[in-house]
Amino acid sequence: MLAGRALAAAGGLAVAHAGPGITALRSVRMSLFPLLSGKAISDHVALTFDDGPDLEATPLFLKLLRERGLRATFFLLGSQVSKAPRLAADIADDGHEIGVHGWRHRYLPLRGPMATHDDLVGAKEIITATAGVNPWLFRPPYGVLSTAALISARRLGLTPVLWSAWGREWTPGATPASVHETLSGGLEGGATVLLHDSDCTAPAGSWRAALGALPLLLDECGRQGLRVGPLGEHGLHWRQPVRFSL
Ligand SMILES: [Zn+2]
Repeated sequence: MLAGRALAAAGGLAVAHAGPGITALRSVRMSLFPLLSGKAISDHVALTFDDGPDLEATPLFLKLLRERGLRATFFLLGSQVSKAPRLAADIADDGHEIGVHGWRHRYLPLRGPMATHDDLVGAKEIITATAGVNPWLFRPPYGVLSTAALISARRLGLTPVLWSAWGREWTPGATPASVHETLSGGLEGGATVLLHDSDCTAPAGSWRAALGALPLLLDECGRQGLRVGPLGEHGLHWRQPVRFSL
């Protein structure tokens, strides 16, 4: 987990591939990567949550967002939805956007094309069945893509998107203050913020630091005059799946 996240952070592009380097394909690089980081040119901050839903954590995030009158994007794991299907519906009922994070939280470059495709299909199908929405966004586990994942995403009408600021709430000893401080480094108009409303791939209870940091983040956005909302309102033209050729 941490290695993948570190790669995502350090690599910037966060695309790995076993075989011909996908980053070398100019058509992919030029058409896809400007969107991958979720960076927009606006006064809007996209708020995103990964790895849920979680029976204990997600309702608390939903409650806070409801109190603030804000909506966000939740990238759900199919395996988590299967354990808490009602929560997927609750997220949608509250008006949030739902994206696909895969079925299992696995490092995609180590998986074959069929396993990758089946994983994404399963996640998309259970989200549609439980939440009644047709997701169009895809965030790969650990923020690391593969050629097979890009092909499957395209076939399924899913647009990959990563993030530009994160709170690193999974690191040992993380607190709301530390998460807020880490986030603040990348907080600006057009940023896409990543937090986790689940600890299924992180130390137990790590989501509490994210939950505690959320009001601090929202207050800071307010002070800076930044609007907060889901990726679908982030000012990028993502409604159609990103086109790329391999
Ligand atoms: Zn994740």
